[in-house]
Amino acid sequence: MSTLENLYKQVILDHSRRPRHFGELPGATHTETGHNPSCGDRVQLMLKLDGDVIVEARFTGKGCAISVASASLMTSALRGRTLAQAAEMERAFTQMIRTGQPAAELGDLVALQGVHTLHTRVKCATLPWQTLDVALRQAAATGPQD
Ligand code: ZN
Repeated sequence: MSTLENLYKQVILDHSRRPRHFGELPGATHTETGHNPSCGDRVQLMLKLDGDVIVEARFTGKGCAISVASASLMTSALRGRTLAQAAEMERAFTQMIRTGQPAAELGDLVALQGVHTLHTRVKCATLPWQTLDVALRQAAATGPQD
């Protein structure tokens, strides 16, 4: 295992054992749930929007290390992003998981790049992001909130 792979593994283990932004989000403006039947992962994603900016993102649920680490890294990366930036991040992340090509602007999220080679875990890594996708579409449909 290379030094980089080892570092990525440490990031995933750290986020799965001590997930960031885990718990209920009082005052959430958007809530969406996702389920990955092939592994049993469940995630509930809560967003708090101010206009089109995600001021807070939290999640609850139960799942494997990959799904929890992905949700933890995702909610960390979402804070302070606009809806458009979040959608762009989701596209870049999904592309990385499918093709293995890292996107430089993904920051710590590149730790999950190796999931590309673990075909049974792809759905685990993308579950929080698919849930985000639904939430973003819902937010776009309802428009900015004053
Ligand atoms: Zn899983």
